[in-house]
Amino acid sequence: GRAAPAAPPSMRLTPSAHALDVLEVWRRYCGLLDSTGRAERGRLYSALTERLLSAEGKMRHGLETVRVSGYVWIGGLEASLLSALARSGADVEIELRSPPEHNGRALASMEDAVKPARVVSIELPARPEPPRLVAAAGPTREAREVAREIKRLIVDEGVRPSKMCVASADSEGFVPLLLEALEEFGVPVTVSRKRMMIESSLVLDCFEVARLISAAGRPFDIMPLMSSPYVGLGPHRAGQIARDKIELRGLELSLARWRERLAADDSSGECDGQRYVELLAQALEQAEDARRASAGTRLAGHVEGFRAALTCLGMPHRIFTLEGSPGRAVEEWMAWAALHSLLLEIGHAQEVLDVSHGSAPSSGEGWAEFVSLLTFAAGRRSFSLDRPSPHGVEVMGLERAASSDHEFLFVSGLGEQMLPRRRRSPWMLQDGDLEALARAGVSLEPMGNGAEADRHMFNILAHSRAEKIYLTYATTQEDGSVARRSFFVDEHLTSLGLSEADEGEITRVVPASSVFPRQWSDVASKREVRMRSLWSIGRAGSADAACGLWRVAVEPEAVLWLSVLDRDFAEIAEAWHELQVLDGAGIEAANRFNGHIGCSELLRQMASIKLDARPWSANSLNQYIGCPFSFFCRYVLGIEPADSVGDDVDARDRGTCLHNIAKEFIESHIGEVLDPAKADEYAEEIHEIACDVVGRTPTERSGIPESVWNAYFAGIVAASRDFLARELEFVEATGGVWRPARLEWSFGPRVREFAVGECRVPVAGRIDRIDVGPGGALAIYDYKSGKKAPSSKEIKEVADIQLGLYALAAEHLLGAEVAGVWYWQVPSKGRTQGVWKAGYHRDFNAGRKWAGKLDDDEWRAFQERVREAVARCDQGARQGMYPPTPSEDACRYCDFPDICRATESAASDLPEEGGVEDV
Ligand code: SF4
Repeated sequence: GRAAPAAPPSMRLTPSAHALDVLEVWRRYCGLLDSTGRAERGRLYSALTERLLSAEGKMRHGLETVRVSGYVWIGGLEASLLSALARSGADVEIELRSPPEHNGRALASMEDAVKPARVVSIELPARPEPPRLVAAAGPTREAREVAREIKRLIVDEGVRPSKMCVASADSEGFVPLLLEALEEFGVPVTVSRKRMMIESSLVLDCFEVARLISAAGRPFDIMPLMSSPYVGLGPHRAGQIARDKIELRGLELSLARWRERLAADDSSGECDGQRYVELLAQALEQAEDARRASAGTRLAGHVEGFRAALTCLGMPHRIFTLEGSPGRAVEEWMAWAALHSLLLEIGHAQEVLDVSHGSAPSSGEGWAEFVSLLTFAAGRRSFSLDRPSPHGVEVMGLERAASSDHEFLFVSGLGEQMLPRRRRSPWMLQDGDLEALARAGVSLEPMGNGAEADRHMFNILAHSRAEKIYLTYATTQEDGSVARRSFFVDEHLTSLGLSEADEGEITRVVPASSVFPRQWSDVASKREVRMRSLWSIGRAGSADAACGLWRVAVEPEAVLWLSVLDRDFAEIAEAWHELQVLDGAGIEAANRFNGHIGCSELLRQMASIKLDARPWSANSLNQYIGCPFSFFCRYVLGIEPADSVGDDVDARDRGTCLHNIAKEFIESHIGEVLDPAKADEYAEEIHEIACDVVGRTPTERSGIPESVWNAYFAGIVAASRDFLARELEFVEATGGVWRPARLEWSFGPRVREFAVGECRVPVAGRIDRIDVGPGGALAIYDYKSGKKAPSSKEIKEVADIQLGLYALAAEHLLGAEVAGVWYWQVPSKGRTQGVWKAGYHRDFNAGRKWAGKLDDDEWRAFQERVREAVARCDQGARQGMYPPTPSEDACRYCDFPDICRATESAASDLPEEGGVEDV
């Protein structure tokens, strides 16, 4: 019937702000249920109890006698209601099944909870024989052992599956393992499978649409929506768009900005992404139109609007146009049906949106309230996944099993951590919150007197009328740590008077070494036959490795299986066996991963498609030098790791900004020697340039508030003066012998063709800055941001090839002597690392820096090392040599540790970020 209107919850303890929020949404949800004539059971009981108690026995409910039977235990809210009924004058009697020779504690506890109602004990008879115990190493073995015994009962003893029941104390951990094992063994199961609405990706995608509507024009990340197969373009197409156009995960933009972003490089408006944004905009418009046109309540208007948006995006008919198994479509349809009926319910509800606004809330606020109500309601609803078969083994929870009778009963998952169950209260709630919520009818303690209830329920199960009872538990956790069984099992065995020896008699121990059955008669599935056969081959192989005739010693069952019944698998098994033999003999087997590609046709195609298609660059050369496998991932496989919006200023945005400030300032002084006397004038100039550059710098990758961003870049503007200061100091120290001559000077196939060494390996690059100095000699600079640049030693030894490559290209293409190559660390460190000819030591004001000073022979050797490195990279790549080569420097910024086979374990030791960035 219709629920009584809820009295506002009285709160003796002050609840936290979070609990108040929960209560706020909870009240709206209850209002929603009330207005549709429904109520959650807990709240209904709570309201009825309050009314019965406040009427002090005068309430006319028409009940004279109330009898409660068949329940194993009465929960807290039910107990209060029965007690209130008894107080209001009804004759209330509750039957409680009790185990033989019980100590009366459960009875007393129940009497206390329901008084003045009566509790009558119905004592169960003692069982003629003790239970069987199964003690397995880990939940997986426990589940498989239960499934195996069930199959044995079916096959050997002819027991019908529907006569058996598995009652599990661990529905989350044990039941999925059991279902998997039963499926593998081909045993039919009766389990009503349900899924929470908020676990359905279809429902979640629909909610994402609701969130987009409630964002009311604010920036929003549409990529999750775009990748939805139900309301978007699907993951494949969205992935392509993300890679080709967005290149940034977590980006939040208004729809207008998304449109612009997706239109970049494609003004035709024909790209899927642009069309999708148009569709979203249309869906939002239709949502608002439908909301405004609705004649119902405000809630009904939002429901109409939300449904209109979903229809516009193609729901629900897209469910059946998607590829995939029909079973999945049916499951998705069930989720959609649950969402549909929830929306109907909300649409028919009376007004429950927050009326505290005074005036009507804005459209955005109204949508936000609707979304919070919708998601809250969905969080409490589930939907059925399929119809349970009536002929299978029943799998259920302990409570249900304790009130039903089966001939064979398995009570499983009896770990100490599972029984008695630990009642969890949400961590964010304080002590007062629980009471406040419970008084409002939010049932946080479903079984009332927790531990006593669980003990009673277990005892009822252990004394059930079943012909055979199995108590099963795991002796270890999945990770191998020790697990204890529930002390209820010990109490039960003690009550039966069983000695340790007796217990050994009735216990089947499944050790950790039990990976597959030792007896062929225990084999229960195709997978187990295969494992047993493989083991048989392996054992025969190790015993007879010398002659390799494994068929001779392999068990006959395995031979029959492999040579007659499962030929396909036999081929795999034989290959596996050969690998084992090779391994045993210390011979490196083919197919062991070493990063080398041996197929010449593949190499030929790879070279023509990948290596010939683009010249080498300093980055690709450095990547091959650092680790050929990471080069393979990036340049051959073409894996581009996704970029994402970070919660800090992005190092590349910062680098781009510093680079542009330096470039634009020097650009206005090309060919000039800076005059230290004009320092103030320059300072003003660079300040202006810095402000301008900062204003133009992209900020999408940096997910920080605008105020933080502004403060950060104010710092960069100030630091730009340091760049100027270092330049002027250099001019003073060197007597102004250098003049900037070229900026961003490119070489490569399309501009200035350049090939290195005898093999004529094509390379390309862009030099940030070239200065001209004494006798027309060149000074080459690359701007770096970040804390550290490659050292002079690394440059000299070509562990970092960039500057060496630039020196070769400039000398060759400009026909001038290169005096030195330097990393210029912007904004304030200046020329920190490099190599230079000894004759220009003073011209570079190198002072006590000796590591990069090279005499003519050393300079020639340096250039030769660069040529050799280029040739080595090119040949290695063409010969298919891509071994993973872990090193601190290479692995530190590697994008591929997840697919690297060399350093999976070492990846966690990688150093923190914060190194150099090429700008
Ligand atoms: S993690 Fe290290 S070894 Fe593996 S691919 Fe990356 S750089 Fe190479």
